[in-house]
Amino acid sequence: AEEALRQSQKMEAVGQLTGGIAHDFNNLLTIVTGNIDMASRALEAAGVNDPRARRALDNAMKGGERAAALTHRLLAFSRRQPLAPKPTDADRLVAGMSDLLGRSLGETVSLEIVTSPGLWRIEADQNQLENAILNLALNARDAMPQGGTLTIETANARLGDEYSAQHAEVAPGQYVVIAVTDTGEGMTRETLARVFEPFFTTKEVGRGTGLGLSQVYGFTKQSGGHVKIYSEENQGTTVKIYLPRLVSDGEVEPAAEQVTDLETSPRRET
Ligand code: ADP
Repeated sequence: AEEALRQSQKMEAVGQLTGGIAHDFNNLLTIVTGNIDMASRALEAAGVNDPRARRALDNAMKGGERAAALTHRLLAFSRRQPLAPKPTDADRLVAGMSDLLGRSLGETVSLEIVTSPGLWRIEADQNQLENAILNLALNARDAMPQGGTLTIETANARLGDEYSAQHAEVAPGQYVVIAVTDTGEGMTRETLARVFEPFFTTKEVGRGTGLGLSQVYGFTKQSGGHVKIYSEENQGTTVKIYLPRLVSDGEVEPAAEQVTDLETSPRRET
């Protein structure tokens, strides 16, 4: 619990700091790109056709646009967007993402979606949940440069008192679990210990921001849920998002319902 608190305070502080910097930086970038644009137009208007000057300005503009895209991601991360939770069928939400996911994964990674008949409903901010799943899928893709399989699977899960005793931040109860599994390179013990830290990345500059799993963590916690990661080097990674079941007024919990959490082969976990 103490660890969870420290984590959320850190996120809060980092969020405020990044928000401020990203905002100012974005304003400055507007000046830079605006002036590049003006210089290009001025050259054109003067009838100057210097390919080297043109290329230099184009490159500067591209750099500026990439920097702007990065500051927008930082702003989106730092903004404590209030969630807009709605009753949600996680299987439908995942199915609705399959085209987007297929396109994002490229040719060498195949996508498997395993739905769960009788899946409970959850109450979730659908945009944020889609973002979280997309972040996990992109991480999975990056972990499988040689290709592989990305599996997204759902299930009803009951986290009991025993489980909660070991994980002080988790309330016992009924959850829907969404598990994202890849057959990629996995994580070292050191990486696994730090994955939720904002800005922690092992990817090269320009490829990773280190904010993907921070978003997943922040969103899940804010939704009353829980994230677990299982990873083994050279075998792959499973990220499980647990989101609380939506029990509407008057609905009675069925007595003998099939409840199974998803199997995870014995892997190192967070
Ligand atoms: P980013 O993807 O921008 O680096 P994340 O917060 O999403 O930021 O991930 C942090 C780090 O966790 C990654 O740089 C990578 O080292 C590790 N990681 C995350 N997901 C996976 C995965 N599916 N397989 C292997 N490593 C992963």
